[in-house]
Amino acid sequence: MSRIEIASVSKTYDNGVAALKPITVDIAAGSFVVLLGPSGAGKSTLLRTLNGLETPSTGEVRIDGEVLGRANLRAMRARIGMVFQQFNLVGRLNVMTNVLCGRLGKRSGLGSLFFLMRRSDLERGHAVLARVGLTDKAWERADRLSGGQQQRVGIGRALAQEPAVLLADEPVSNLDPATSREIMDLISDICRRDGVTTIVSLHQVELARRYADRVIGLNDGNVVFDGPVGDLTEEVLRRIYGDGEDGGEYGGEYGAEYGGEDEGGHGGDVADA
Ligand code: ADP
Repeated sequence: MSRIEIASVSKTYDNGVAALKPITVDIAAGSFVVLLGPSGAGKSTLLRTLNGLETPSTGEVRIDGEVLGRANLRAMRARIGMVFQQFNLVGRLNVMTNVLCGRLGKRSGLGSLFFLMRRSDLERGHAVLARVGLTDKAWERADRLSGGQQQRVGIGRALAQEPAVLLADEPVSNLDPATSREIMDLISDICRRDGVTTIVSLHQVELARRYADRVIGLNDGNVVFDGPVGDLTEEVLRRIYGDGEDGGEYGGEYGAEYGGEDEGGHGGDVADA
């Protein structure tokens, strides 16, 4: 379990876009936090800042009191699992190899070249595949799987790291509603059962209501709401999404927007890009 402190963190990109205004948030170890906000609100930037993919323009990120910085980036990142909207698998490689990529942060130099040969890694890989429900897919090409299965591989890759923190950037935006709930059940179970501090950005308010302990609402780089899911009122949703004549981005039914049907093979497209 890890506590995450975001202390006056802002991010202005080189092109001058102020994606995050100074943000201060303290996330309790083991909690399940959902980031909500319209496209461009800064959700992705915040998540990327938390695992060191972006450097804050001001402020600092602390994980268990340790400031994330250049010197400890590799060691800190090894403790942070990341799950992506597009799964980010290597489509031509099999499921096990994709999962074991999550172990690379634990190796250095020559060790990482031979990581596949380590029995302990393979055992971990099998345990992870059992956990994400893909035992029978270990040796299949990742791009032959359905979208939901590919996201399970993405989660498996994060679990192979034995993470203290799990970050997921719109992990269900490419999945149908039923599959979305299965994936969210899995992420939630990892948080609750393993005590992994979890931050997930979502488009669907309905899923935030179902899974979050705490919701952070972003709009134009500012935190416009921070509270328990029970406080997510209509007024709060308007604050997060704006009035939008068409009912706001969250839509009249708060999250009927699931981003289309299950797209099997998408990870392969990403890998080929
Ligand atoms: P969200 O995840 O909520 O959609 P993002 O964090 O992706 O929001 O984007 C926040 C703002 O930062 C947007 O205006 C976006 O165009 C801009 N942005 C995101 N990434 C970059 C980048 N690498 N370079 C410049 N601007 C970026």
